[in-house]
Amino acid sequence: MARKIIIIGSGPAGLTAAIYAARANLKPLVFEGNQPGGQLTITTDVENYPGFPDGIMGPELMELFRNQAKRFGAECYFEHVTAVDLSKRPFTVFVGDEEYESDTLIVSSGATATFLGLEAEERLMGHGVSACATCDGFFFKEKEIAVVGGGDSAMEEALFLTKFASKVTVIHRRDELRASKIMQERALENPKIEFEWNTVVEDIIGDKDVGVTGLILRSTVDNSTREFSCEGLFLAIGHTPNTTLFDGLLELDDKGYIVTSNNSTATSIEGVFAAGDVQDHVYRQAITAAGTGCMAAIEVERFLESSQ
Ligand code: NAP
Repeated sequence: MARKIIIIGSGPAGLTAAIYAARANLKPLVFEGNQPGGQLTITTDVENYPGFPDGIMGPELMELFRNQAKRFGAECYFEHVTAVDLSKRPFTVFVGDEEYESDTLIVSSGATATFLGLEAEERLMGHGVSACATCDGFFFKEKEIAVVGGGDSAMEEALFLTKFASKVTVIHRRDELRASKIMQERALENPKIEFEWNTVVEDIIGDKDVGVTGLILRSTVDNSTREFSCEGLFLAIGHTPNTTLFDGLLELDDKGYIVTSNNSTATSIEGVFAAGDVQDHVYRQAITAAGTGCMAAIEVERFLESSQ
């Protein structure tokens, strides 16, 4: 028999949807995906989630979300959805050879870090190149490292990395940061952080044995290039929505985010709702993701009632 609701993704959006759907007795099934708990599980202190005045570690916060959803009967499978059939209801969700049917779906598959697109980046990933300071910062004790980007993620990564590195250089393509005021101030005031303004990373020097030994930097002002010595490079230049599964099935915007109708989480297919970073490129916060997860679950409940 088809389930009433399947939730794809387990960040703040998916697990909040699971809490609400479980409390509405809809017995949600959550497919947690490749990164159970979502992006907060690769971050450290979360200082802006209401209710935690002293901050909370990202992985711990997500464990609390999951426990709360399970307490009301949500089932969480540590599986990755490989395909969906949205051509008729109930919809079908595929996990390899296994098929699950559901009257409604909430897509909360989140977003993934963007890369610069350099050949060396892929080759040296895990050998001095990283997109996760929390995961890899420890390997850079007393080393000089660089962070690319000018947003909150870049400031957060740079600040975190000062706990390990002897020097952190933020490389930004403009002369003005995009990050919020408070994060800018913290980074600018940190004596271990330096800035290379109006600069892009043209190439990464190194190999798998020795790791990263330097970068080729290019000035965005006069196009001149120079070598820059460092032992690690952290990428923090934004995110790409995880919507490959829905390409050609749901309406996506030009950047690949799922399009939802105004003040709603409804997608272009009735019965399919989207919440969190997979549909939000404006706010992208844990709290806004949780908010849209709540909206999606309430909308599922109303949809199921009206289609009975
Ligand atoms: P973002 O705000 O989109 O910033 C991306 C940064 O990378 C920008 O400075 C951008 O430069 C730069 N960039 C993009 N593509 C590049 C390329 N190919 N080469 C060089 N630089 C490139 O992304 P984010 O920092 O990941 O933040 C995403 C959202 O999450 C934001 O809403 C942010 O507030 C939120 N966030 C919040 C916190 C927090 O509150 N603690 C922490 C992390 C993230 P330009 O500025 O020139 O465009």
